[in-house]
Amino acid sequence: MRVEEIEIVRSRRRTLALQVTGEGHIVARAPLRMPLSEIYAFARSKEAWLDEKVALRKALASSQQPKLTADERKALLRQARDVIPQRVRHYAPLVGVSCRSVTLRFQRTRWGSCSSTGGLNFNCLLMLAPSEVLDYVVVHELCHRKEMNHSARFWAEVERVCPDWRLHRRWLREKGSALLRRV
Ligand SMILES: [Zn+2]
Repeated sequence: MRVEEIEIVRSRRRTLALQVTGEGHIVARAPLRMPLSEIYAFARSKEAWLDEKVALRKALASSQQPKLTADERKALLRQARDVIPQRVRHYAPLVGVSCRSVTLRFQRTRWGSCSSTGGLNFNCLLMLAPSEVLDYVVVHELCHRKEMNHSARFWAEVERVCPDWRLHRRWLREKGSALLRRV
């Protein structure tokens, strides 16, 4: 990892967060006045995690969309276990619902689903989508805990928590099918 290559996006946030884009670039979302040295030190403390993620994303982005190898699937499942339940816990109170269970698996046809008993199911391939798209799918499925349909009321709920949902849905329609073909 070369810290000089980290893209730094400053905003009025309070905490520093590191993300790896679908193309394998590292983005640091930082508070307005946080010194560069502090951002770089934090990135270095996460170097092993970042390197693994960057390597995986780059391999997947540059390849001709071959099927995932067993090792790649393992790595994605591990990432999904780290990230997706935590995003569900973050968004459930914002949507105003509870979630009974989260199941993660590789699927060819769908990104997520919500059962009538309140269990949520997510596709591990979401780990290869931009994090905003992942968050949109999480919000979408949580909103099905209120509305088990795609009515105007349902989309109004989604929009309240995820105002850019149209962009993310478009991303899934345009780019998602290539991801789904990888399993
Ligand atoms: Zn839906």
